[in-house]
Amino acid sequence: MIIILSMVYISLEEGLEILTKRFGEKGRTGEVLLPDALGKIAGEDIVSAEDVPPFPRSPYDGYAFRSKDSEGASADNPKVLNIIEEVPAGSYPLRSVGENEAVKILTGAPIPYGADVVEKYEKTEFTDNLVKIFEPLKKGSNIVPKGEDISKGDHVFRKGDVFSPADIGVLASLGISSVLISSPLKIAIIPTGDELVEVTEPSGEGKIRNSSAYALTARLREIGTDPHICDIAGDDIKEISDAIRKEEESDVIITTGGVSAGDYDYIPEVMNSLGADILFHKVAMKPGSAYLAAAFNDKPILSHSGNPGAAYVSLEMLTKPFLYRYSGRNDWENKKIKALLKEGFPKKSPQRRFLPGRLSVEDGKAVIYTSQRQGNGMLSHLGKAFVYADIPAGTGRIDPYDAVSAYISI
Ligand code: AMP
Ligand code: MG
Repeated sequence: MIIILSMVYISLEEGLEILTKRFGEKGRTGEVLLPDALGKIAGEDIVSAEDVPPFPRSPYDGYAFRSKDSEGASADNPKVLNIIEEVPAGSYPLRSVGENEAVKILTGAPIPYGADVVEKYEKTEFTDNLVKIFEPLKKGSNIVPKGEDISKGDHVFRKGDVFSPADIGVLASLGISSVLISSPLKIAIIPTGDELVEVTEPSGEGKIRNSSAYALTARLREIGTDPHICDIAGDDIKEISDAIRKEEESDVIITTGGVSAGDYDYIPEVMNSLGADILFHKVAMKPGSAYLAAAFNDKPILSHSGNPGAAYVSLEMLTKPFLYRYSGRNDWENKKIKALLKEGFPKKSPQRRFLPGRLSVEDGKAVIYTSQRQGNGMLSHLGKAFVYADIPAGTGRIDPYDAVSAYISI
């Protein structure tokens, strides 16, 4: 079969726009209990129905009284106040504080009516009934106001925000025990290639282990999706199409292998046999130019190179931002920074090139450490990489410590 494909390389940014325009947001939501909300995406806006803290409280163990009664107090001339009550945390003051009166108060306890300051107990002298104050205090001193952290009516979360550990605490403080989230995308990863064997099988004699699908799956799990690896499909149009058809329940299908333009690169033909729309084929970047995006029954199929390094870089630079947008995440973009490329790069870059590396700081400057072993087929250099230097097409050799643009992909 002869397939006519426009082999125009599109840019990474165009690819992402095409995907996002075509698929928009998945929009499936579900409810999870609070502890399970960590790292999940808010499925709706959350507005606070309460003030946190719900009452003005003391940040210290000490004495609460009227600021007026401390006027003129000094080391030589302390003010002496009568202690009328003790309020531990969890209790509520029963009496209001009048002239020359004080309430013994413990950290976190509500400020009694009438009092407008708290003095730390270390700064006082006291008996069971009397407390001496040695300094004048301004109204409001040492009082945590009601709603200091969150006010009633605050827009605490926007749909698409990702819940962090502190956010889980915020939800707890608001009495929210379950939240609506954008359901994690179910992703099928279909490895293709006649040369592939399972992890448990021996490699050699032309056979290699299916490492790409494992690396992608692990990363997809780490970024909050729900991936599963399918059986290896051979380099065969029917085998690959059948594997894709079987994944009706998956929201997204990712394939590895067979997406270049060689004799056994069947992915474009698979898309035609499925009747899927090919959205683009080939992206102007290295590694990762072998990439095909298609829509099959409104489901994204994202075909990556089989080369583990190339597949991984495509995932970070293109697939991940798309999946974030598809799941409705607000912070979908890889963040752009300027940094110095510690070792430089000896080769020319006729095509746009991404150099994975680690980010560090030297003399207060951001520095990218890249491995000397870099390549499409390699994975080991990607182990600690989360920064990708973005070398524009047409760049010559790069000297050590030259400044480059880079993306942080987390
Ligand atoms: P392909 O993308 O099919 O042209 O494969 C490119 C290179 O990646 C070849 O050397 C393949 O043997 C290798 N390869 C393909 N699939 C995988 C995989 N799942 N794991 C590791 N290497 C792979
Ligand atoms: Mg192949």
